[in-house]
Amino acid sequence: MAQEQNQQSTGNKISTTYVTFIVLIVIVISIGALFLAGNAYITGDQLTAGFLALIGLIAMTLSVFILFQSRRQGVEMKIEAPKVMTTIECTNKTCSSKSVREYQRGDYVFKELDVACEKCQGKQMITAIYKEVKEKEKTYGV
Ligand SMILES: [Zn+2]
Repeated sequence: MAQEQNQQSTGNKISTTYVTFIVLIVIVISIGALFLAGNAYITGDQLTAGFLALIGLIAMTLSVFILFQSRRQGVEMKIEAPKVMTTIECTNKTCSSKSVREYQRGDYVFKELDVACEKCQGKQMITAIYKEVKEKEKTYGV
């Protein structure tokens, strides 16, 4: 069991490192190309300078694109679908027992439940169905 988990986490790390490695290489190539372009421009070789600058810019754009893509994927993986919650209230007015649980298939507002109230054994009714909003994600969302 523990071994399987280790293998999985190593696999994830490798794929992340792999992407970062490629991006790093492309960035190094682009910086090198731009440096050579500047060098060629100084020596008066404008054709080579333009060519190298083009390679540098393409490589830079590519690396930014890869970074953007991998980051977006990471964000997508982090954000979980918001949970849908169901509020259940006791129909007995003197009881006013209220509980919240995860949405279950077949739930709808004003549906009477078969499960009796724990406090008064009265009938329970669904009064609200809503998506759970995580306050933490709101605060730290970039
Ligand atoms: Zn009740």
